[in-house]
Amino acid sequence: MALEIFQFPCLDDNYGYLIHDNLLDQTATIDTPDADAITLALDQKGWQLTHIFNTHHHSDHVDGNLELKDKANCKVVGSKRDQDRIPGIDICISDNEEFLFGEHRIIVQETSGHTIGHIVYHLVDQQIAFVGDTLFSLGCGRIFEGSPDQMWGSLQKIMQWPDDTKLYCSHEYTQSNSVFALSIEPENKQLQERVVEVNHLRAQGLATIPTTVRLEKATNPFLRPDSQEIQQNLKMLGKPSNQIFAKIRELKDSF
Ligand SMILES: [Zn+2]
Repeated sequence: MALEIFQFPCLDDNYGYLIHDNLLDQTATIDTPDADAITLALDQKGWQLTHIFNTHHHSDHVDGNLELKDKANCKVVGSKRDQDRIPGIDICISDNEEFLFGEHRIIVQETSGHTIGHIVYHLVDQQIAFVGDTLFSLGCGRIFEGSPDQMWGSLQKIMQWPDDTKLYCSHEYTQSNSVFALSIEPENKQLQERVVEVNHLRAQGLATIPTTVRLEKATNPFLRPDSQEIQQNLKMLGKPSNQIFAKIRELKDSF
């Protein structure tokens, strides 16, 4: 049976996500940017919260943990490496650990870089993943705690998933990311097409998320250090991918 996903805006530019397994009547929220918005979404769907799946410890991802846990008596799942920073954590998960949500298998992968111990939730059978602040459409998370090499390794994990995998990022940053992406790879036709689509969606107030592994590999500069055009524009022809990635991240930070 398919998993139901309910997506809604939270705070300024976060997304709230509820996932619901019909068979066992379980519902999880991915992170807790805003307890009120999540409660409203639960009421709207008529679902009872059973789990909180945290991606990392930043406040716009865990702020609603205790309030929602108090209300629903749900279980809080998070990275073992974040156990002292995630409020109300009950279940600590390590890299590559698997668990069942209803009848759906979830594999957790550690994607340190934005923070140490950031994790992503990959529902392999459904070909969907919740990638938190590791990957954004046409962008990636800022490197606050890890190193560029660590972040590049984390992004490569996501790139290895099947191309059709739908990626649910935690923020709607696509339109602003597109300006930087075009600045370093202006001749990329698929990127040009994506930017037209993104501008069209945003003009109507619609989400550009989820994206897919295929689309990001074709358009996201952070996944494209192999692009000749990017290498030329950065004057880094033939340089190793991790160094080119680090340069792209550095340029974006001061863009
Ligand atoms: Zn964050």
